[in-house]
Amino acid sequence: MDKINVTRSSLPPYEEYCAEIRDMWDNRWLTNMGEKHRGFQAELAGYLDVDNIELLTNGHMALELTLQALKLSGEVITTPFTFASTTHALVRCGLEPVFCDVDPADFTMDASKIEPLITEKTSALLPVHVYGNICEVEAIQEIANKYNLKVIYDAAHTFGVKYKGRGIGNFGDASCFSFHATKVFHTIEGGAVAYKDAFLGRELARLRNFGLEGQEDAVEVGSNAKLDEFRAAMGLCNLRHIDEVIAKRRRVAERYRERLENIPGVQLGPIQPEVTPNFAYFPVVFDEGIFGAGRDKILSALENEDIHARKYFYPLTSELSCYQGRFNLDRTPLAKWISQRVITLPLYPDLPVEAADKICDIIVSCEK
Ligand SMILES: *Cc1c(COP(=O)(O)O)cnc(C)c1O
Repeated sequence: MDKINVTRSSLPPYEEYCAEIRDMWDNRWLTNMGEKHRGFQAELAGYLDVDNIELLTNGHMALELTLQALKLSGEVITTPFTFASTTHALVRCGLEPVFCDVDPADFTMDASKIEPLITEKTSALLPVHVYGNICEVEAIQEIANKYNLKVIYDAAHTFGVKYKGRGIGNFGDASCFSFHATKVFHTIEGGAVAYKDAFLGRELARLRNFGLEGQEDAVEVGSNAKLDEFRAAMGLCNLRHIDEVIAKRRRVAERYRERLENIPGVQLGPIQPEVTPNFAYFPVVFDEGIFGAGRDKILSALENEDIHARKYFYPLTSELSCYQGRFNLDRTPLAKWISQRVITLPLYPDLPVEAADKICDIIVSCEK
């Protein structure tokens, strides 16, 4: 069997992409919100089932510019069990991350632990829909309403996920999506913000283009975070195939679940009620004391067969070298426990089910 990585980017048929970009050789409109950008934006709003969405150059800038657009200050309550981007966005915007522990069953921020962290400096909540598992959106909104806080979701993992029949981008003030090449849906690099209030869309559109207003003046200290036409074209193509991509992921994820569920000491991600999932990741938490093998042993047994799973997320963002000494790591013991034991298994549309079987055979054999 060939080398298996944790993920493999999906691509549309080559000819389909070439046909999509053909007219750019005539019109020479390559970036700055052209026809592809507008077309992709409209299609995307339809697919994600949201009223308002703005496209950006990547998911990280979606987070940064949303934080800037909302003019937040002080402290933001967030989770350390995420990709570096979530925490970096806060710090780069001059905000202080305050880390809340996670719910060990679904790895998202534990809403019941938010209130004690709120101070007079708190301006917002930044939870993450980790691995495609959705946060407790209703409980989080109640807290936000009670204390007058903004809610920004890092929705990088939840492309296409629905809750109670509604697109996940409808919750909170804003939801930031990533269209990076490794995600369920991608534009090579890219991102978007689904948002509630019209003013936020206007702000984002300005901030992604240097804060320019009209031809001459910049009214805000903006950045450059535009999604170009080639990547919008990739988005249009990939969107035509997304349902098939998710269906193929489902096959692999369901095989993993069949093979690994009910093994003592092996915790899988949850099946959340009333959620339409996207099968973005397949995390498995190994409790060595019960299962008999720890994650390093399992990872190296897989490596021996040229199968590359990942410790994702490890370390916590609060433990990254760039933040050394800055945060109190004792406040999020459950996040730490999970990050020390979790592996995400290879999962992509073209992964053969036989490969998933082989991966499960190797894992089960580590037990002995
Ligand atoms: C991928 C990712 C991001 C960043 O998105 P980019 O498009 O790579 O900038 C942010 N948060 C999480 C949780 C991610 O997985």
